[in-house]
Amino acid sequence: MLRRTLHLLTSLLILQFAHVASAADDSISLTFLGTGAPRPSLDRYGPSILVEAGSQRLLVDAGPGMRERLFQAGGFELLTDINLILITHLHFDHTISVPGLWLSGWLFGRKSPMTVYGPEGTSNMMNNFEAAYAWDINYREAVGVHEQGSDLIAYDIEPGVFYEKNGLKITAFNVEHMPIDMNTGDLLGMEGSTLGFRIDYKGRSVVFSGDTRSTASSNIIQHSMDADVLIHEVQMPAPGNSPEAQLANVSLSVHSTPAQVAAIFEQTRPRLGVYSHIIPPELTSDQLLNATDYDGPLLVAEDLMTLTIGDEIVVGIAGGAGTNIFTEADVVDQLQD
Ligand SMILES: [Zn+2]
Repeated sequence: MLRRTLHLLTSLLILQFAHVASAADDSISLTFLGTGAPRPSLDRYGPSILVEAGSQRLLVDAGPGMRERLFQAGGFELLTDINLILITHLHFDHTISVPGLWLSGWLFGRKSPMTVYGPEGTSNMMNNFEAAYAWDINYREAVGVHEQGSDLIAYDIEPGVFYEKNGLKITAFNVEHMPIDMNTGDLLGMEGSTLGFRIDYKGRSVVFSGDTRSTASSNIIQHSMDADVLIHEVQMPAPGNSPEAQLANVSLSVHSTPAQVAAIFEQTRPRLGVYSHIIPPELTSDQLLNATDYDGPLLVAEDLMTLTIGDEIVVGIAGGAGTNIFTEADVVDQLQD
């Protein structure tokens, strides 16, 4: 299985060691800033993926360590150039770095507000972030940090197309990550929703599963039928019946096993399937590929891996681009006068 997958990869993909992915005009570039989940891991930071299409940049999710990986990939230029974040759902492993990027991007030079789209409850969370950091913002503005860019703007979105600009179209769809009764499978009736996204740009497309269990009627299937890349979360079941294994497997009711994801890939046949949001984070690429009975092109994402989706799908590694030298003149308006 592994041999076959690797063969397919080498025939389809060109491995490149690159600095930050530079998108050709009609390609979509992805940088995996974090491929893990809630558990701390120094190898797999929390879920976050940078999307670049033409001159547009945005993030899908803002997990722990996102700000640091962005800085690692592209220095202050990248850190201060992003003003759009899409949130799949409101778990902390998808949202905790929103304040980190919103505030440090502004502090180090971003002059536009940060805009966040997410499911019901997103505006409320962002309003609370603004309230929580009001003292910090007032303090810095009082000592001369520019006032443009400190706003945090949020939109609660419903399934459907919610963003269309400069050829970039983004569609949200419901996924199945709401809590259920383990015994009956019934929804526990919590309010809110959890989303996946599809991004289309000049004939290229990428689908993000968000966090989801797998079902035969998953919306992911219909939204991925002609997708170039389908990025799917995965959780490997813990073996045995020990208390530890049982505890680890509780979350399987809201996540997808490799066998279940293989069935999704089998139905949708993307040009490339990708695992990200990997539970537990210490899983290796070999372990996941060997557990997945699927004969199409499949890749396990690693932190700082890049994908450029064009006529070919090119794999690379981000890092070392941009500058890590900060000059105060970038941010303090008065010094420029
Ligand atoms: Zn998650």
